[in-house]
Amino acid sequence: MPKIRILEDRVANQISAGEVVERPASVAKELIENSIDAQATKIEIEFRNGGKSYLRVEDNGCGMHTDQALLSLERHATSKIRKASDLNEIRSFGFRGEALPSIASVSRFTMRTRSSFRDEGNELLINGGRLVHVKECGMPKGTRVEVAHLFNSVPGRRKFLKTENTEASHLIHLTKLYALAHSQISFSLMEGSRTLFRSPACERVEDRVREIFGKGLAEALTPISANSQGIELDGLVGKPGYSRSTRKEMIFFVNNRPVESKTISYSVLEAYHTFSPKGRFPPAILFVSMDPELIDVNVHPSKREIRFRNESQVRSFLVESLLSHNRDFSGVVEKGFDKPDLEMDHIAGKMVPKVDLGASETYKFDQSVNGLKTVSADSMFSKTTQSTSGDSFKFLDNPGKIAGKREEINSDWRFLNLSKGVFAIFITPQGIVYLHAKAAYERVRFEQLENALQANDSCDSQKLLLSEALELDAVDRANLEASLKDLRKLGFIIEEFGRNFYRLDGCPAWLEPDEARLFVEDFLEIAREEGGRPQINQFAKDALIRQTSTPTEKKGSFSDEEVIRLANQLMKCKNPYTCPNGKPTFFETPYRDFETRFKREL
Ligand code: ADP
Ligand code: MG
Repeated sequence: MPKIRILEDRVANQISAGEVVERPASVAKELIENSIDAQATKIEIEFRNGGKSYLRVEDNGCGMHTDQALLSLERHATSKIRKASDLNEIRSFGFRGEALPSIASVSRFTMRTRSSFRDEGNELLINGGRLVHVKECGMPKGTRVEVAHLFNSVPGRRKFLKTENTEASHLIHLTKLYALAHSQISFSLMEGSRTLFRSPACERVEDRVREIFGKGLAEALTPISANSQGIELDGLVGKPGYSRSTRKEMIFFVNNRPVESKTISYSVLEAYHTFSPKGRFPPAILFVSMDPELIDVNVHPSKREIRFRNESQVRSFLVESLLSHNRDFSGVVEKGFDKPDLEMDHIAGKMVPKVDLGASETYKFDQSVNGLKTVSADSMFSKTTQSTSGDSFKFLDNPGKIAGKREEINSDWRFLNLSKGVFAIFITPQGIVYLHAKAAYERVRFEQLENALQANDSCDSQKLLLSEALELDAVDRANLEASLKDLRKLGFIIEEFGRNFYRLDGCPAWLEPDEARLFVEDFLEIAREEGGRPQINQFAKDALIRQTSTPTEKKGSFSDEEVIRLANQLMKCKNPYTCPNGKPTFFETPYRDFETRFKREL
């Protein structure tokens, strides 16, 4: 019969390390949470080699006395709960008392700590779970934990770690999460001696976003706040139409704890699915607060995933709040376009503002629909040809060439006039079409780029007036090299000059030259976060959408000829109904409406 024994603590710790410590980012998470629990107002994080070889988390919190410091490394040693009933009202991050001994069991672990009541600090060194020394040391008030050679003693675990870049990107993302949730704490993150971000304590989460994610994202977000029946929602969400290629900026906190919650992410996607193109994600940094009793945090060992006791209430609150926020925000669209209804665009696979084409049945020309006689396209054409003299009416070029369902719809638009340089008016057999030339231009340009990217063509370049110098560190440099071919194909002219220096001489013709540097920098930032080569095509589309939504767009007014060409190009688009930001490109007033208004049949 096998003999039962109680496991040695060191072994037990290594086993529990399997749950708590998965990768450098999870070590950082435990250490940062301890610093926050220790009332720190300043936290500094440093890592090397993606945190595999070295990670340091240092705070100015309450620190520990010698005996406490020793105790903190024992299993189930915690200062945060005493009895089982405390579990129901957990306010601190930690409570299992497992993190420090687990981490120390699988690394070379050095803790220096000093409480404000002592002049001297203590240094504890533990290697692979064995205490090497405890000695006095000089130390400012607070705690510094250094974790070196993670999993060196457990090669089985070490081999599950990903590349340095990937581990670094997890670490960076995690630190950003905590920095967002605790803007009153000063955070800095360093990769070796290079500062990745430094964000002093600030009051508004907007400022923090700007510092840690950059100006681009900060400007694409608007604040939201709502509450109902004990649930509160605060945070920042993407302006309608602004979207990202990954879910990385869908960041959620519940009671200020970063969480993964399907309920929240589904709610956001549901509320936004009419506002962002298919396959793209709205950025949303949301803070949900509610009675902790209504949340189950203890479902996952890393406490990341949570469940709401009342899923459906939370979900409908979130969807309604987000929808009403978006409606208020896009009032411009709705007012300007007489509150369009939404309809399913099966090609784009999403809801788009409905373009009332006078009931699609009316396109079966010469048929009575709803008791109304509709006009034949042919007869309409011949009639107008006869009745109009000279240039006052212009026909779209080549209407006959255009085939397919959508094209049929538009093939007999007749240009009538252009107002204020952007509103073009067309007559069709079914009514009058109002086209927003700039929106159409944006859509056409967007799909041109999309097609060029799909067809794998090289895009045209334009020279920059002044070259830009880019100084890159090792990681950025490796990522740039990996994507250089793609970037060049896209139209960038980039040359290396000297170690870690690159010169940007040109950019794609469709990109504003002012944006060129930012494009490359953002691209490298994403490469760093994702640990490799981002999808360059998706990234380029993002940039184009962003650019078309900025007010500085140079294309201000259009000539008649341009508008006619645009309308033709628009007809050939996959989604002619909206600009890349989801705003309508045109709408139609059907003759039916004229009949109703004039109270006569035509
Ligand atoms: P838990 O956080 O679950 O209590 P840990 O193993 O993470 O367990 O930490 C054990 C104890 O060590 C904590 O309860 C706390 O008292 C102390 N401690 C850990 N990190 C710090 C720190 N940075 N500053 C002050 N005390 C700390
Ligand atoms: Mg802890």
